[in-house]
Parts: sequence; structure tokens; C-alpha cells
Amino acid sequence: MHIYIFAPHPDDEVFGAGGSILKWLENGHEIYIIWLTDGRAGYRKARKLGELEDNEETRITEDQLAEKRLAEAAASAKILGVKPENCYYLKIHDRDLMNHKYDVIDQLIRFIKKVDRFVIPSNNNEHPDHQATYEIAVRVAEKLNLKDIEFYVYAIHTPLKAKGERLVKVRFGNLRYKALEALKEHRSQFYLKDLELQSKWVESKRRDYFGLYKLGDKGKHFNF
Ligand SMILES: [Zn+2]
Repeated sequence: MHIYIFAPHPDDEVFGAGGSILKWLENGHEIYIIWLTDGRAGYRKARKLGELEDNEETRITEDQLAEKRLAEAAASAKILGVKPENCYYLKIHDRDLMNHKYDVIDQLIRFIKKVDRFVIPSNNNEHPDHQATYEIAVRVAEKLNLKDIEFYVYAIHTPLKAKGERLVKVRFGNLRYKALEALKEHRSQFYLKDLELQSKWVESKRRDYFGLYKLGDKGKHFNF
């Protein structure tokens, strides 16, 4: 299978589907990751709230942070075992994806060829970049007329379980330690207060749950 992972920010590939990526690769599937934004706003809110460690590594410009985070995404993909040629960095400014939706859709339509599954964020998101990513992926599928592909929907900022929705479970057991290693490549994020807790969650998780949909389900569900 050809499986595309849509990560609004560097690190969403691990939080959304890290263990599953490892499992799917083990099963011989071809994995692609698309990072839509550059993660430059990663410290913005936390700094204001006092939830960011203040040190030489965090006293950097947003341009520097963006550069760092894209390199971290590449390192994370390497740990996961995703081929460099299957990694796409669209480099839209973090928190600004909504304003670049149409450019991104045009870009994606040009390079997505064979596809069986899109792995995407939920359509019910407080985070504007996650919401935009959902909208972009679904629009790309419509434009390419991908009626039969599967959508695997992950939820990071919202609950996934909604009434009447179909869930699939991907078991990956001890591959979770490898997923944690991939998360740890996102070094810049470990200066944020809640990352320690979130990495414990990645370390303990033996399975991922995804909402499962087809394009024809669009608009009929909380998450899709
Ligand atoms: Zn994100």
C-alpha cells in the first residue's frame, strides 16, 4: 500500500501515527510524510505563558526555530525508517496554513501519484493548522477523484471517539520504544513544559486508534 501521513507540524507524525508508521513499514508498505508547516510558532504561546525553558537554545528567532524543526523532522523520519525521497517539507509558516490552502492543494496534486490511504487530522480542531490540513487532504482527494482510498483520522487536540464512527486499531507493541526515539529527535520541543508528559504517553502506547472513512462519508461525522 501507498500511505501518506499528513503532519501539520514537525512531531505530529509521531504523535499522530508514530507506532503505526513503524508497523506499516514492517509490513512492507510504502510510507510518505508531508509536513505542511515549518513549526516556527512552536515557542510563541508557551513563552508568553511561561511554559518554555529559557536558555540559549530557546532564545532564537522564528526563522532559526523553523530551520531547526525541519531538520528534526528529517531526523525523526530517519529513525522511523521513512525514505528521504518520500519526505515532503512544504514549509508554510506555522499558524498560517489556512491562508495558503489553495497553493498547497495545487502542489500536492502535482506530486501525489499512487495512493491507497491518507492519514490525517480530525475535522474538528482547535488548532487552525490541523483544521487546514484536514481540509487540504480532503480537497486533494476530491480533485484527484480518490473515491476508494481510506482516510485514517487521528486526533491530537480533540477526542476521536464520537458516536457512530468506525475506529480501526493498529497494534505495534514494543515498536513504541522506537516511536519514542523518533519523538526525541524533536529536541527543540523538549524545552516545552508538557513534552515530558506527552513523551511518557508515546512510550506507554502499544496501539493507535484511527477513525476510518471514505471520501463519500465527508460531512457526515464529527471527525470527518
Ligand atoms: Zn500540530
